[in-house]
Amino acid sequence: MMNYLLVGGFSLLIGSFLNVLVFRLLQRESIIVPRSYCPLCGQTLKAADLIPLLSYILLGGRCRYCKGKIKIQYPLVESLTMLLSMLIYSKWGLSFHFIEGCIFTALLITASFTDLNEGIIPDRLTYPGIISGCLLACFSAGIGNAILGAAVFGGFFLIIASVFQGGMGGGDIKLAALIGVYTGLQGAIMVFILSSLLAGLWVLPLCLQGQASRKTKIKLGPFLAIAAWVVWMYGNEMMLAYLRWLA
Ligand SMILES: [Zn+2]
Repeated sequence: MMNYLLVGGFSLLIGSFLNVLVFRLLQRESIIVPRSYCPLCGQTLKAADLIPLLSYILLGGRCRYCKGKIKIQYPLVESLTMLLSMLIYSKWGLSFHFIEGCIFTALLITASFTDLNEGIIPDRLTYPGIISGCLLACFSAGIGNAILGAAVFGGFFLIIASVFQGGMGGGDIKLAALIGVYTGLQGAIMVFILSSLLAGLWVLPLCLQGQASRKTKIKLGPFLAIAAWVVWMYGNEMMLAYLRWLA
C-alpha cells in the first residue's frame, strides 16, 4: 500500500512535468527555465499552485491570478501518468522493467498531447526518446531487436509517407521508430495492427455520419501511442491468446 502511494505521488509529479514539457515543446521554449507560469496571464506560479491534481481541484480549474480557465488537459495528463505508472508497478514491481515502462509511458503521453494540440510530434522529443530506448535496450531486450524494430516500423511509415504524399507527417515516422525501439520487431508489428484497428474504429462512425472522408487527415500519434502502450504492457499475453486461438 505504501509503495503504491509512493509510486502514485511520484508519477503525479512526473505527469505535472509532462504538462510543462508538452507546452514548452510546442512553444519551442527551454524546458528548464523559466519557472512555470500561467499560459494565460504569464504570472509565475508559486509552489502551492503546482501541486498536481490538488491545485486544479482547490482552485476550481481556474488560475489563481487571472481566474482564466485551466485546460482539462493538465489534470488529465497528471492522472493518466499516475494510473499507467501504477498499472506498470502492479505488474512488474520496482524493477528495471518498471523504469523502462515509465520512461516509455512518459514519451508516449507527451507525443500524444503535442499531436492532439497542434498536430506536431517534435524532434526534440522523438530523438532523445529513440536514444533513451536504445540505451535501455542494451540492459534488457537487447539492442539488436530494438534497432530492427525501429528500422522496420520507421522504415515502413517512411515508405507509406513517400508513396502517399501528405498522408503522414515526419513526426509519425519518428514516433514509429521510437516505438519500434521499445517494443522490438514483433511488438512493432502488433502495434501496427492494433493502431490501425483503433484508428479505423474511430474514423468509421465519422465517415458514416458524413463528417469525414478519405481526404480527412487524422492524427495518428495518439492511436500509435495507445497501441504501443498496450503492446508493451500486454504483448506477450496477446500473442499467447492469439496462438491459442489459432490452435
Ligand atoms: Zn493566469
